[in-house]
Amino acid sequence: MINIKMPVLKKDHEWNEHLKKLREESYELRTAVQMLDYSEKCKDKNTLKDEGAAAACVLSEVLDVMQVCIGIIEKLLEKYPTMLKNAVMIHIEKLYQRGWKFRKWIQIEEE
Ligand SMILES: [Mg+2]
Repeated sequence: MINIKMPVLKKDHEWNEHLKKLREESYELRTAVQMLDYSEKCKDKNTLKDEGAAAACVLSEVLDVMQVCIGIIEKLLEKYPTMLKNAVMIHIEKLYQRGWKFRKWIQIEEE
């Protein structure tokens, strides 16, 4: 069973700072995925990159993007504290309607 915790950072950023960070981290994640894709597909052993290191880099960037999204959620909850639960229900219904099958659930619990 996977049990991970993600922190909510102490910050009071304006929306433009959230957007700037999201842009930066999204770009880094895209770059890391492209590098992993390259290292998986590259058959030339002389130029083959370390695939494990590339995968670790992708995970690091995914967590960076998640951290930015957690900050955005936290900022919204300060003003709209009950909005998240309904938004999640609408999101899940949207996924069902689009035909997505769920492999498993990951639970996020506020301490
Ligand atoms: Mg990053």
